[in-house]
Amino acid sequence: MRQIAGSPFQDSPLVSASLRCSFCGKDKSAVDKLIAGSNGVFICNECVRLCDEILEEELRPDG
Ligand SMILES: [Zn+2]
Repeated sequence: MRQIAGSPFQDSPLVSASLRCSFCGKDKSAVDKLIAGSNGVFICNECVRLCDEILEEELRPDG
């Protein structure tokens, strides 16, 4: 995990708290991959897979 060099907040609980998926709440260590979003949100590979399946259902041409 990368940290911002020289940040005065390095030791704050907010920064050192473990990252977790914003969708299913699983910890970073509990999933294969955790992808960061733009507003401090994260999604794990399992939720990406789930979303992909949902989208495929939704976008199916013949409904
Ligand atoms: Zn997840």
